[in-house]
Amino acid sequence: MSNLWVFAVLALCVPLVLFSLTLSPEIGGPSQTLSAWQSMALLYEVRSGDTLSAIAARYDVPVSWIVASNGLSSTTIYPGQKLLIPKDGVLHTVKTGETLAQIAAAYGVSEDLVRKTNGLSGEPQPGMRLFIPEPKTVPLTASAAIQGFVWPVRGQISSSFGPRIHPIYGIPSFHTGIDIAVPEGTPVRAAAAGRVTFAGWESGFGLLVVIDHENGYETYYGHLSKLLVSPGQMVSAGDTIALSGNTGLSTGPHLHFEVRQLGTPVDPRPLLP
Ligand SMILES: [Zn+2]
Repeated sequence: MSNLWVFAVLALCVPLVLFSLTLSPEIGGPSQTLSAWQSMALLYEVRSGDTLSAIAARYDVPVSWIVASNGLSSTTIYPGQKLLIPKDGVLHTVKTGETLAQIAAAYGVSEDLVRKTNGLSGEPQPGMRLFIPEPKTVPLTASAAIQGFVWPVRGQISSSFGPRIHPIYGIPSFHTGIDIAVPEGTPVRAAAAGRVTFAGWESGFGLLVVIDHENGYETYYGHLSKLLVSPGQMVSAGDTIALSGNTGLSTGPHLHFEVRQLGTPVDPRPLLP
């Protein structure tokens, strides 16, 4: 158990006890009690200003594990919302008609492992929660809500998504977005409708805007020269949100455009027209 977890357990001890009084029917499946989950997950109440990625980073858990464990259909969370923060695995709620073989395959683990971990004999009942230790993949319903994006700026792609030699450090690295070469001061447009969750300085990115599209996708716009939106603001696809620039770790004027699906950077190119 890492120090972080010890701290988290201590910090959440009191609220957890209070929650356990009211929430055991909700989080325990048939014949399962909250105490059975306490070693596998913490119950966290979302506070104002929290984001899923910040919570995930705080507890050192992938965003996708939190999304799957809570059956979320987007990365949008709200104050007062209670989230299970899983530890060393994912809590899966069995859906009607789902077989153990399907569940195990969806997470890239063996049926036997799921069976042993959960003391299961026979097929799991719908509504039951199964603990999937260290899943290789996480099936995400949110990706069903995929939508197309519009180009945030038009220009030549000077660096694509994927492995590259870092332009400043000269070492192999992974480029988490695409770079679009445009003159400084070019209007940058929201790639899709959503809510601005960040507008400010972030190391590496320079001046950065982040938009949560409330369907599991977030877009990042980096190296800006001027911000024209603020956090909490709703934007429509094509709205001007900033002016492009050359701030942060940048070797010339361009827009760094990044798409994250449930917290993980994905290649933006297939999502653009
Ligand atoms: Zn870039």
